[in-house]
Amino acid sequence: MKISRGLLKTILEAAKSAHPDEFIALLSGSKDVMDELIFLPFVSGSVSAVIHLDMLPIGMKVFGTVHSHPSPSCRPSEEDLSLFTRFGKYHIIVCYPYDENSWKCYNRKGEEVELEVVEKD
Ligand SMILES: [Zn+2]
Repeated sequence: MKISRGLLKTILEAAKSAHPDEFIALLSGSKDVMDELIFLPFVSGSVSAVIHLDMLPIGMKVFGTVHSHPSPSCRPSEEDLSLFTRFGKYHIIVCYPYDENSWKCYNRKGEEVELEVVEKD
């Protein structure tokens, strides 16, 4: 699975501007490259409470979720793990200070997976 460098930048910037709040969005794109975000209306409360299936735009491919941690830990919480099992196969967590190395991708089981960063757009 791949992610475009442009999308990664967008994610890190969104996380930075949401800080100290969490930022959350869905990962979309085409074929095997994530290059688009679907922003969701933000509802305060837990991350897993924010996403409801009926909010998903029709016909859009959803690879998974992305959210930020205002702390320096990219480890998924219990709550994150339950979110991961509900949506998509790839879940990115970006954490403070939101630089190029402040992110990790997990599968539905919460195991770390590698994403290839590709130059696209
Ligand atoms: Zn989290």
